[in-house]
Amino acid sequence: MPRPLSATIHLDSMRHNLARARSCAPTAKIWGVVKANAYGHGLERGARGFADADGLALIETENAVRLRELGWTRPLLLLEGIFDVADIALLHEYGINSAVHCIEQVKMLEYTKLAGPVDVHLKMNTGMNRLGFVPSEYAAAHARLRAIPGIRHITLMTHFANADELEHPRLGIREQVRRFQLGAQGLAGERSLSNSGGVLRQAELAEQLSNDWVRPGIMLYGATPGDKTAEQYKLRPTMTLASAIIGIQQLAAGDTVGYGSRFEASGPMTVGVVACGYADGYPRHAPHGTPVLVDGVRTALIGRVSMDMMTVDLTPIANARVGSKVVLWGDGLPIDEVAHAAGTIGYELMCALAPRVQVLEGALGQPA
Ligand SMILES: *Cc1c(COP(=O)(O)O)cnc(C)c1O
Repeated sequence: MPRPLSATIHLDSMRHNLARARSCAPTAKIWGVVKANAYGHGLERGARGFADADGLALIETENAVRLRELGWTRPLLLLEGIFDVADIALLHEYGINSAVHCIEQVKMLEYTKLAGPVDVHLKMNTGMNRLGFVPSEYAAAHARLRAIPGIRHITLMTHFANADELEHPRLGIREQVRRFQLGAQGLAGERSLSNSGGVLRQAELAEQLSNDWVRPGIMLYGATPGDKTAEQYKLRPTMTLASAIIGIQQLAAGDTVGYGSRFEASGPMTVGVVACGYADGYPRHAPHGTPVLVDGVRTALIGRVSMDMMTVDLTPIANARVGSKVVLWGDGLPIDEVAHAAGTIGYELMCALAPRVQVLEGALGQPA
């Protein structure tokens, strides 16, 4: 019998969330972002769950090639562009769009005779200060790309630093859009600005924010980049990390639990041992009180998370026993809530799912 820990991927929820993204930004085409192994869901599952997306966006050329080999025929986009001239041949061979964010990438394209047409996304740095040309240098970069034979469409692209907060005190969406419009003034081409945060803000921003392509990631996986809950946005969980109770201990007042003996029982209590630890991707720094479901009832993590196990308070669970079902996140327990308790974000929890965890597929709400 396999260890009871598994991650069930809900392809039905992935389809649902993609449809939500479409209804938020109905006039834009959608890049389903499948970087980082589709946020831990598996690249190939990303391609199936987002089969209705207009394109898929990711980081590595070899994974873009893999998507072609899996039969993905629509556009593909490399969000960080090429890392080496050798990648350029693959762009036209496999029909992959590439971001162009620095002058070195422009030069690589200039020096290489393109054997076929290549579409690029020229990235503007509108304040994130990670990748891209600053607005004042953007038109010149655009002109250099335009002059390269073989470069076909140039999409104008930027990325929001604080899309989850409309009125961010340092750099709100509106300010980034203003800078983008300034830098892109007079340039032809489609526009691509919004990540999930932008897509979820589209209704509020209305015509202030206009995209030909949007690039949602996290919302497609049923989590949110901001303070509102996934449920408020009608997004559904796409990954349920579930396990079981594999041991039970009865504690008396003063007994402690786990490494470091950091949890001390204040009175008699029942502790359940769950088959899931930090080597599975559960955050070791999750504190006492991080929510966990046992037999569908909410209870709390106690003690330190260890490599293969963690301990939970079974006192509120009526008939808990070895074998009782545990949900660490997903169906019935939003990943954002667990992440928040652990001082991180849903993105990190999904991406950190360890290779040793068995991955299953199943509809949301159905037992795996
Ligand atoms: C990761 C990424 C996205 C998706 O971001 P979410 O916050 O997950 O929606 C969009 N655009 C770019 C350039 C990215 O790197």
